Amino acid sequence: MRDETKCIHCGYTPKNSEPKMVPIVQSTTYVFDSTQEVGDVFDEPTKALIYSRFANPTVMAVEQKIADLEGGIGAMCTSSGQAATLLAILNLCKVGGSFISTSQIYGGTVNLFAVTLKNYGIECIFVDADADEETIGAAVRENTRLIFGETIANPALSVLDIEKFARIAHSHKIPLIMDNTFATPILCKPFEFGADIVVHSTSKYMDGHAVQVGGVIVDSGNFDWTNGKFPEFTEPDESYHGITYVGNYGKAAYIIKARMQLMRDYGAYPAANSAFLLNLGLETLAVRMERYCKNALEVANYLAASDKIEKVIYPGLESDKYYPLAKKYLKGTSGVISFIIKGGKDNAVKFMDGLKLASIEVHVADIRTCVLHPASATHRQLTEEQLFAAGINPGMIRFSVGLESVEDIIEDIEQSLSKV
Ligand code: PLP
Repeated sequence: MRDETKCIHCGYTPKNSEPKMVPIVQSTTYVFDSTQEVGDVFDEPTKALIYSRFANPTVMAVEQKIADLEGGIGAMCTSSGQAATLLAILNLCKVGGSFISTSQIYGGTVNLFAVTLKNYGIECIFVDADADEETIGAAVRENTRLIFGETIANPALSVLDIEKFARIAHSHKIPLIMDNTFATPILCKPFEFGADIVVHSTSKYMDGHAVQVGGVIVDSGNFDWTNGKFPEFTEPDESYHGITYVGNYGKAAYIIKARMQLMRDYGAYPAANSAFLLNLGLETLAVRMERYCKNALEVANYLAASDKIEKVIYPGLESDKYYPLAKKYLKGTSGVISFIIKGGKDNAVKFMDGLKLASIEVHVADIRTCVLHPASATHRQLTEEQLFAAGINPGMIRFSVGLESVEDIIEDIEQSLSKV
């Protein structure tokens, strides 16, 4: 199947006389015929459904659809993108461990890595994504467990050289985890370029309609957890009667461990109703992504031609620093544009307040055009130094182009710019 077809048909195949739409299984619990059968499931939790803190049929249908879209062996949905990133890291890191992340990532993730995980004894070493392989490789230590980066960074809009990062990670026998939120599997499938694990905030393009917050972790099934660095996959898990994840689940070891250990204990699983809504968003993802990219390129070209704009950052523009990487890795560069208005922060605020169609929101990747000033909102907690490391100019505006008529979007920009 091609992506358009997968978006609609993967994850749920009704049999004779069953509902056409994936049913919302709004149940916390599941029944068993005998005490013995319940006991069996506690010995082998993948055997049957037990409890909706870690598995539910509606959510599982969506998990399968996303795994198919990414080309992965399995997926696990979470109640937010933050939870997906957190659990993806905790599945490999414990106190005393470290990992590497590029600096060009979402501000909330910077906070999680630099502050919260540090408080739990897990250290994140930040590297410049554009540094050469030797420099990045030199940051890897004995206790380094993974490398993390964003396909298209929010809001810096830098494009990650996935093959470079996969080479560095694999030469040190550690996996590459990618946040593929802005690209979605429609524009980029990181596994094809060597990434091992993918996470998403499904609250963005996958949902697309601003109706539910969610996340997902997808496992490629390609990483060799038996390479000696990851005994937690090859040695018995005492909390499951001595199961070994590679021994029992083979290629699906990572994603099953995430569910059996972390989702069991942390319980950040989405509700069935949220998964149903996410599925509706996913059904049109391929069609929507194409139009987001088309609209955004027109808006980016319009902004680039304006004498009121200092700089437009959009990897779909040939003049953009990341255009060559975008050509290599992406089928389109999403609907998010960052730009800097001449006159700095004051004019940025004036421009934003003057918009009539686009709304000011702490959100991106919606069908409705929305706009944000990262330095005073999502990235407010970062120091000036961290802001520049994350690729954010204090006067930068993040403009998320929606699916309205592009003429209307440009007219709105025009009328507001005229007042600046
Ligand atoms: N990753 C990226 C790239 C994001 O943009 C966001 C949120 O903006 C997140 C992760 C966190 O996702 P959520 O808001 O669903 O927790």
